[in-house]
Amino acid sequence: LFSKILLAYDGSKAANKALDRAVELAKVTPGSSLHVVHAFEFPRFFIGEALAPLPASVNKDYYDLAVQTTEEVKKRLETEGLNAKVELLQGSPAETILKYAKDNAADIIVIGSRGLGGIREFVLGSVSHNVVQSAKIPVLVVK
Ligand code: ATP
Ligand code: MG
Ligand code: MG
Repeated sequence: LFSKILLAYDGSKAANKALDRAVELAKVTPGSSLHVVHAFEFPRFFIGEALAPLPASVNKDYYDLAVQTTEEVKKRLETEGLNAKVELLQGSPAETILKYAKDNAADIIVIGSRGLGGIREFVLGSVSHNVVQSAKIPVLVVK
């Protein structure tokens, strides 16, 4: 059984479809838990050779947006009566998702095919591509 379900969430349309599927899967699996992971990174920019952090005020905006993204999922899950938790983790998305899956012994990763950015003609974004490529467990890619 896919008892421990990891949903990778970035607030995108595909991620919301993936969320619906993850909820369905959790509902039909007795004793399951749903772990929603949203990874965020503080942006950096180049000054000459070096990568420099952006001003604190800009970083705060990114953090606030990440919190807002998790709040939306929490609200969506409130009425479902599932054993669910929503995690906001700092780090690069694919790496963070894969590490969380490993550390928490997840049984399946549910992920959107595309996200917020990227080039429309590609079937997968870089995050879903890397997760499918490197995951040791089944990955459900939702289009
Ligand atoms: P790219 O990011 O390569 O420009 P993209 O944004 O279209 O392209 P991805 O970022 O790969 O595509 O998004 C595919 C899926 O990966 C999303 O639907 C979501 O499930 C997951 N994902 C993307 N970013 C994150 C994130 N920061 N935290 C958690 N899951 C994410
Ligand atoms: Mg993306
Ligand atoms: Mg990206």
